[in-house]
Amino acid sequence: MSKKGFTLIELIIVIAVLAILSALAVVGYSLVTQRANERVCETNRHSMETMYHAQHALDEGLTKESFFENHEDYFDDATCPSGGLYSLEDDVFGCSVHGVISDEDEE
Ligand SMILES: [Zn+2]
Repeated sequence: MSKKGFTLIELIIVIAVLAILSALAVVGYSLVTQRANERVCETNRHSMETMYHAQHALDEGLTKESFFENHEDYFDDATCPSGGLYSLEDDVFGCSVHGVISDEDEE
């Protein structure tokens, strides 16, 4: 009897290796997506901060609270990609999912 092709054990091993590789790819993809969402959220909050400082330069009486209340429609449009809601806590723009921007996050 001549031996051609793969045995069942060899096929099972190949399928198991492919399953492990695809599981690693899915985990890697979700980590990359999560990090990208964090970055977009962070950028949105930096934009709010920049917008506030630009408005504050024109009107020194402007507080962050009044700026945040007056631009609620903008903050509704600029949403966190992870579904978080933006808020103003302790004079810092924060996200209900990603928290506030801290100096440790900036590199
Ligand atoms: Zn967020």
